[in-house]
Amino acid sequence: MSRPHKEIVLPAELSKELADIYGAMEAGYDQLAAEVGLTCNGCPDNCCDSYFLHHTYCEWAYLWQGLRELDKQQRLLIVERAEKYVEESRAQLARQQRPQIMCPLNMEGLCGLYKHRMLVCRMHGIPATMTRPDGQSMRFPGCFRCQEIVKEKYDSPDDAPAMDRTPLFRKMVAVESRLLGDKRHLMPRVKLTIAEMIVQGPPALPVPHCER
Ligand code: SF4
Ligand code: SF4
Repeated sequence: MSRPHKEIVLPAELSKELADIYGAMEAGYDQLAAEVGLTCNGCPDNCCDSYFLHHTYCEWAYLWQGLRELDKQQRLLIVERAEKYVEESRAQLARQQRPQIMCPLNMEGLCGLYKHRMLVCRMHGIPATMTRPDGQSMRFPGCFRCQEIVKEKYDSPDDAPAMDRTPLFRKMVAVESRLLGDKRHLMPRVKLTIAEMIVQGPPALPVPHCER
C-alpha cells in the first residue's frame, strides 16, 4: 500500500522568486551569448533531446504549475509522451546508452512550456563557472557550437567570458530550503528527468503518522 502524501505547492511568493531567478538567468545568458557570438539560429542540433536530470523540488513544483495552466487535452498528450519517454529511456539506459530522446514538452521544435522550463534548459549552451558549496570551482565549456566559436575566437577556452552561475544557484537553493522547511531532512534527493517529473505527478511530502 502506498504511503499518504501531501502535494508540495509553491506559494505565490516563492513562485515569483523562482520566476525572477529564471529571468536573471535568461538575461545573463543573452548577454554572454551575445558577447561570445552564440545563437541557436540555424543550429543542426536540438538540445531538447539531451538527457538531463533535475534536482530540486521547487523546479518540479513550478513545472507542474505550468502544466496545470495548459488545457486538459494538451496536458494528457504531454503525459502520454512522457510515459513513452520514460519507457524508452529506461530501455536505453539498460543497454548502457545515454538516452537521446526528444523531451515530451517539445512541440514541433519549440518548448511547449517555455515560461516553466527548467534551469538546465536556460543555462545550457554558454560557457559558465560555478563555485560549489565545498569551495570547488567548476567551469562548463558550453555546447558544441559554442566550443567551436570559442576555439576560433580565443587563444584558450579559459579566455572566453563565462557566466558565473553561483549567485543564482544560491538563490535557488534558498527557495528550495524555504519550500521544504523543516521537512527537508525527510525528503529523498531529486534526480529525475522532466518526463519522470511529469509521469510521477507533482512533488509530494510524506505525511507523518500523527497528521493522518
Ligand atoms: S544551445 Fe548550442 S547546441 Fe543547443 S541549439 Fe543552441 S547552439 Fe545548438
Ligand atoms: S522543457 Fe522545454 S526547453 Fe527544456 S528540454 Fe523540454 S522542450 Fe526543451
